[in-house]
Order: sequence, then C-alpha cells, then structure tokens
Amino acid sequence: PYDGPSTAEIIAKRREFLSPALFHFYNTPLNIVEAKMQYVFDENGRRYLDAFGGIATVSCGHCHPEVVNSVVKQLKLINHSTILYLNHTISDFAEALVSTLPGDLKVVFFTNSGTEANELAMMMARLYTGCNDIVSLRNSYHGNAAATMGATAQSNWKFNVVQSGVHHAINPDPYRGIFGSDGEKYASDVHDLIQFGTSGQVAGFIGESIQGVGGIVELAPGYLPAAYDIVRKAGGVCIADEVQSGFARTGTHFWGFQSHGVIPDIVTMAKGIGNGIPLGAVVTTPEIAGVLSRRSYFNTFGGNPMCTAAGHAVLRVLHEEKLQENANLVGSHLKRRLTLLKNKYELIGDVRGRGLMLGVEFVKDRDLKTPAKAETLHLMDQMKEMGVLVGKGGFYGNVFRITPPLCFTLSDADFLVDVMDHAMSKM
Ligand code: PMP
Repeated sequence: PYDGPSTAEIIAKRREFLSPALFHFYNTPLNIVEAKMQYVFDENGRRYLDAFGGIATVSCGHCHPEVVNSVVKQLKLINHSTILYLNHTISDFAEALVSTLPGDLKVVFFTNSGTEANELAMMMARLYTGCNDIVSLRNSYHGNAAATMGATAQSNWKFNVVQSGVHHAINPDPYRGIFGSDGEKYASDVHDLIQFGTSGQVAGFIGESIQGVGGIVELAPGYLPAAYDIVRKAGGVCIADEVQSGFARTGTHFWGFQSHGVIPDIVTMAKGIGNGIPLGAVVTTPEIAGVLSRRSYFNTFGGNPMCTAAGHAVLRVLHEEKLQENANLVGSHLKRRLTLLKNKYELIGDVRGRGLMLGVEFVKDRDLKTPAKAETLHLMDQMKEMGVLVGKGGFYGNVFRITPPLCFTLSDADFLVDVMDHAMSKM
C-alpha cells in the first residue's frame, strides 16, 4: 500500500518548489504511483486505462519488463558519457535505428529530448545550405529552446524569443484549413513565402508528419511531396519531426512521413523511442552530417549507454510483439468506433488520425466549428472518473488526443468508446 504524501501535500510542494508554468490535467489532479503496460494506478490502487501515455513517452507499455531489464542491466555494468570512450551499446542501437529508415538516412546524433533533436536538425540545415531561412507550419510544435520555439507556431507555447529566419506557412489542415483537402494549393504558400519573404534560397523546411500538440492534425494529401519539391528547388533540406508520429505509432508505417510518400533529408525523434527514458535522435545523410565535422560537437548524456540500451530494447519489443501491426489493427477499429460516435453526437466535429495517434475535435456548431473547450474539459474529467485517461490538445484546447501505449487492445478501445459514449449521453 501507498504510504507517500497526500495529493494535497504534493500540490502544496509543487506550488512552492516547482515551476509556476507547470499545469496538470483534471479538476482533482491524479496522483499516479505505479503503472503496468496500458494501465496506471493512483495512490488508492485505483486503475486507469492510459490512452495518452504513448505520446507522453511510453510506446511499448509502462514499465515494460524487457525495457526495464535492459536499463537495469546496463546501469549495473556502466553508464558513462556518450563521448570520450567506446561502448558498443551506443553504436549497436545506432545501427538498429538506421535499419528502420529508408534512403541514405544513415548517420545518427543522439540527444536527450525532442527539442534538442530539432535544434540540432535546424542548425545542420543552416550549416549545410549556408542559408538561414526555414519554413515551418502554423499550428506546429517543435520544442522550447530558441530556434525550436521560433519554429513552433502556436502562441500558447511561445515566449518572446527572437524568431530568427522562420516563416510559418499556411497549415494544410483538412478540417479547418482554407483549401480543404487540396494539399497542392497549401503547398503554393510555401512557394510564395520563399519567393516573397526570402532571398529565394532557404535552409529548409520542418514539419510534423501528423501534428501532435496542435490537435492530431493530418496534413492534406499531396502536401508534403509538393512542399518538399518546392523547398528543394530553393536549395533547402527537408526535416521530418517524428517525435510523436514515429516509431510504429501510425500503424501502416514505422515512420509517419512514409505514408506521405516522401523521404526527408533529416529525421528527428524522441519521446516514445526510449519508453520513458530521456532519448532523442537526429538521423541524416552522411553528406549533411559532414557539416558537423568542422569542429567539435558533443552532447554529454545524449544516447549514453543506459538510454541507448532502452532505445534498443524498445525496437526489439516493437518487433517481437508486432506493435506496429497492433497499432494499425486497434487504431483502425478505434477510429471506426469514434466515427460512429460522431454520427450520434453533434458535439463531435471531426475524428482523425492514423493508427494509435487519433484525435476527436469537439465543436458547439458543426458549420461554424466553434471550439467546445469547456465541454472537452468536462468530458475529459468525466472519463477520468470512469477510469479512462485521454489527452487534450489543439490550439483551442478542444481536441481529445488518443495516443495510448502501442500494446492497447481491441477491448481497451471498446471500453474507451463505451465510456466516452456514456459520458456524452449525460451531457
Ligand atoms: N516535436 C514534437 C512534434 C513534439 O510533440 C515535442 C514535444 N511535445 C517536441 C518536438 C519537443 O520534445 P521535448 O519535449 O522532448 O523537448
């Protein structure tokens, strides 16, 4: 039994000693003390189905034994800095990671987070091209350091950083966007930004394959190939931010960009790749990677033996437990059932996403698409009371983000939808 401090004591300590910017979900915040696979447990032993932990970091399942054992085994052997000495754990994971990627994406740089990975990717694009201008998408989230906060395009997540050289293109959002599902029309804005906002030459383009923080927004079909083409013609390189959409989550493919039929020049990843252990990476071509040989570049902890032991174990588990296939199967079923719910309740304006990266957008009026923010919060709270945790996102805070660990089952999916249906029927 739990004998730690009470929820009230934790809240008081958090207020006194931790960042004032911290937020938590739910009117009565949840104190989670244990977890196993797709479940988390509160201090009273109450079990919750975690339909958001996937994005928060857990791809294989909370405390997956193979990942835990690999980390513990490595910690007992040695955990040193990534630099200075040799250790096979790091190079073995790099080799395994590269084998999941297409084309000439063969050189790995390890980091501790998604922000660091995107900072490095943007810097490499700038070094490689000798240009400064980068195109990113409105509604995107790429991190919270200077360059990545500049690339991020939602005021909710931005402070007053000097946003050097970033141009935010019209978001190819099939639900709210001005050109509907016409990817090529949106891509023409990338052309215009480059022609009218830069010298005509750019360092590159950065985009999520499915926008996560922005509310699980899929890019209009045809957008990425057209945008990549325009950016490459202007001398730029294309960066795919796979921090949320990578590592088998979208089900049909291992990487989110693959469903768009493109091959990026640089891929960034983090979150789920360590199943909760801090790990990020940038993978690029030998030619682009060469720009970093001009001077010393290192990251003390990035990809150290403990972190890469975790990453390698995650790859093994995804493969052994066929979790990509599971994401496809369970995700398709869940999306079908959520779509049926949309037919039942006017409040649901849109159901979208791929695999186990799904979004449900709530609106007060289907024609005006007025965000139903309060209703979203209320539903989220009611579902928690019934033992189901979902995430929230979107610029207006009116989108459920359903991104469970990839071990989520068909009956978990049914339970989630039944609980959501029940909560909605009481509104
Ligand atoms: N890119 C994307 C797509 C993200 O969702 C996030 C985090 N929400 C980041 C980058 C930044 O990752 P981190 O929080 O690990 O720095």
